[in-house]
Amino acid sequence: MGQSTMAVMEDITTVHAAESATISPPTDHRKKRKRKTQLALLPGYAGPFKLCTEAAAEQQYAEALHGMLRKCRRIVVVVGAGISVGAGIPDFRSSGGLFRTVKDDFKMKGSGQSMFDSSVYQDETTTAMFHSMVNTLHSLSQGAKVTRFHQLLSQLSTERRLLRLYTQNVDCLEISLSGLETAVPLPVKAPWPKTIQLHGGLQKMVCAKCGWMGAFEPTLFRGSRIPECTECRELDSVREVVGKRTQGVGRLRPRIVLYNEFNPDGEAIGKVTSSDLKARPDGMLVVGTSLKVPGVRRIVKEMSSAVHAANGMVVWINEEDPPAAKMLENCFDLILKGDCQDIPCILDRWENSSAGPKRALTPSKKRKTLEDTGDIVSFNTGKATPERDRKITDVFKIKKMAGDRGKVSS
Ligand SMILES: [Zn+2]
Repeated sequence: MGQSTMAVMEDITTVHAAESATISPPTDHRKKRKRKTQLALLPGYAGPFKLCTEAAAEQQYAEALHGMLRKCRRIVVVVGAGISVGAGIPDFRSSGGLFRTVKDDFKMKGSGQSMFDSSVYQDETTTAMFHSMVNTLHSLSQGAKVTRFHQLLSQLSTERRLLRLYTQNVDCLEISLSGLETAVPLPVKAPWPKTIQLHGGLQKMVCAKCGWMGAFEPTLFRGSRIPECTECRELDSVREVVGKRTQGVGRLRPRIVLYNEFNPDGEAIGKVTSSDLKARPDGMLVVGTSLKVPGVRRIVKEMSSAVHAANGMVVWINEEDPPAAKMLENCFDLILKGDCQDIPCILDRWENSSAGPKRALTPSKKRKTLEDTGDIVSFNTGKATPERDRKITDVFKIKKMAGDRGKVSS
């Protein structure tokens, strides 16, 4: 993120820094019993762990991750391009990433980042290149299917465990899922949507002058011509008819935030993060991002302090290590290196293993767990049919047997 946007993000987060001082340590007088720290789930932590290696290593982190995702009620998730790679959308910075490909196509010099800089509108070649890039990204996003990891996030939300999803992605894949809706523009006052798009999204285009907004139309953004706003055009012709001075016609652009420019949702993002910090988040996942953007890094830092104050756990999941920044020291309790798309699979495997959660549960807890995981559905919903009832009973029997076996062996 460039300087002016960075400045906005940093202004927002400076406010947080002051406010976050008031949120710790948490004192919940309603609960007499002190909550057990989630870090107890990681005795003798031996990470960072590589995903999908040995079963023995997997046991060590799968229980902790499972414990967090199944027990926490206010999880914050911060994601980047890495979660959409599995959907066929290239990330920006890697060697096969979008910056590199478009740069080669247009024989451009300079950093990949310059292709997402507000200066792209300064000359025709860079405008054409930018249009080509947003078109490619838009068409890839339209054709992409959400990944298993996106679905896991949606599940967290429908189970009422997700406090907020902060996404840096402009592909809008997450917001198509139930429980992960967003609002554009982001309101400055609550209620806020589950998903906060930190850098806008490619589903909308906006007039830079009058602020008119509509669904993104890729055909308007071809070559170096910057499309005109029809709202401005109409207003201007009305003024002309009544003999008033022209005010000019605005240009349309995708509603994404470029480097070195103002984020129109900046103020609202600041309000949401402040509110989330006060809500005492009890778990955080940081996934598929290298945390290069200072404002996002600051959000992660402040949220992690709040999570630790609530005895929660912060998990890093990415192909790479967390950045070696002083600011992020001691932020992450569990570091998982690899493809985040392996996570749902690892959790399934652990849940169904002999060490899994179904051991030693009382019948009522077992029933509750099965309902939580969706292994059995509530008997009160939907239209009852003999066939459906039989299926539900069969599923319950199978799970019950598996649970009983676990109990005997433990
Ligand atoms: Zn306009």
